[in-house]
Amino acid sequence: MGSDPIIRCINNMQLVVATKNKKKLEEIKAILKDFDLDISSLADYKKTPVIIENGKTFNENAIKKAVKIARFSGKLSLGEDSGLCVDVLHGAPGIYSARFSGKGKSDAQNNLKLLSLLDKIPVKKRKAYYVCAVALANKDGLLGVVEGKCSGRIGFELKGECGFGYDPLFIIPKYNKTFAQLGEKIKHKMSHRYHALKKARIIIEKYIEKD
Ligand code: IMP
Repeated sequence: MGSDPIIRCINNMQLVVATKNKKKLEEIKAILKDFDLDISSLADYKKTPVIIENGKTFNENAIKKAVKIARFSGKLSLGEDSGLCVDVLHGAPGIYSARFSGKGKSDAQNNLKLLSLLDKIPVKKRKAYYVCAVALANKDGLLGVVEGKCSGRIGFELKGECGFGYDPLFIIPKYNKTFAQLGEKIKHKMSHRYHALKKARIIIEKYIEKD
């Protein structure tokens, strides 16, 4: 008695996040923490299907991940695809954010490439935004896909130690600090991932209500 029936059901719900990226998984878990889902990831499986990220949009890639892993696991699955879009680079690196400086290259190498491409670009023209697409699927197929964005600008040097990827270069104008300087508490309340997951929660709730 007293506890919300939706929350009670959510407590028993298993969710597989279709990623091996530890940092992403940590952020997803932190943002969904009050949901109290039983969250696992591809790292919890010995062998997982190969997912070829050849979609033309973040949404397409997120859907691919969710549907493939839901079929494989038989469980509710979440596919996440994200990246950085820089205005003056016409939206690049976009869906190629992880492999901007080549396959298997590090975040540090991607950041250096970005800095060199923006060399001599003045502060006013360094606008950028992060995008995060989140898709949910069960063994029968796609349940829905949503997107979140977060606007900022690219700095002239790396600053801060928190987060991952382009965070040491991504400045939030309101604070005039990078996500890597601001830390997870602030990032998780305003990031592209936060906004996408906030919408994704509605899909999860509807799915649980139907069950
Ligand atoms: P994905 O794993 O194919 O979705 O690629 C995600 C890539 O986008 C990461 O490897 C980062 O380079 C970049 N990215 C996405 N989200 C973030 C973030 O929150 N901070 C920094 N970089 C991010």
